[in-house]
Amino acid sequence: MNLHHTKHHQAYVTGANAALDRLEKSRTGQNPENIKGILRDLSFNLSGHKLHAVFWPNMAPQGKGGGKPGGRIGDHINKGFGNFDNFKKQFSDAAKNVEGSGWAVLTYDNETDSLLIYQVEKQNFMHPPNLPLLLTLDVWEHAYYIDYLNDRGKYVDAWWNVANWDDVESRFSKATKR
Ligand code: MN
Repeated sequence: MNLHHTKHHQAYVTGANAALDRLEKSRTGQNPENIKGILRDLSFNLSGHKLHAVFWPNMAPQGKGGGKPGGRIGDHINKGFGNFDNFKKQFSDAAKNVEGSGWAVLTYDNETDSLLIYQVEKQNFMHPPNLPLLLTLDVWEHAYYIDYLNDRGKYVDAWWNVANWDDVESRFSKATKR
């Protein structure tokens, strides 16, 4: 996780800043270049940063996370998925079955007052508006190859032991206040 944070996440922050810089240079005529290429780079790197920025606090220190969520997020999971185990299974399935590199994400749709699980392939998701990130699980190989080699399933199963439900609850509170 240290390597993941200092190398991989950092690379996206650096990449996003570089893309913003290119965007400004292009806008001011200093170095005109193809807007599509810059925006693709910006989306990839900025999305990478945003997904990771939720991924880290979504995890509690070892021994302090896991279990079932209480609070309003616990209630809403029960309402939307029947019970926590159903939710856990569907989220795990989403994570394990991302084709190639990507993410499993839990978001909240304000218009329908419902929680949604979706898969992000790679991470280039162009920031869909109004999709607050409540829970993100990184299933790029760089997230698990050191400790779990190629066994993504084992990594996903172990990840539930460090899930930080207090953090998810506070993100949910903010999302429902929008
Ligand atoms: Mn990552």
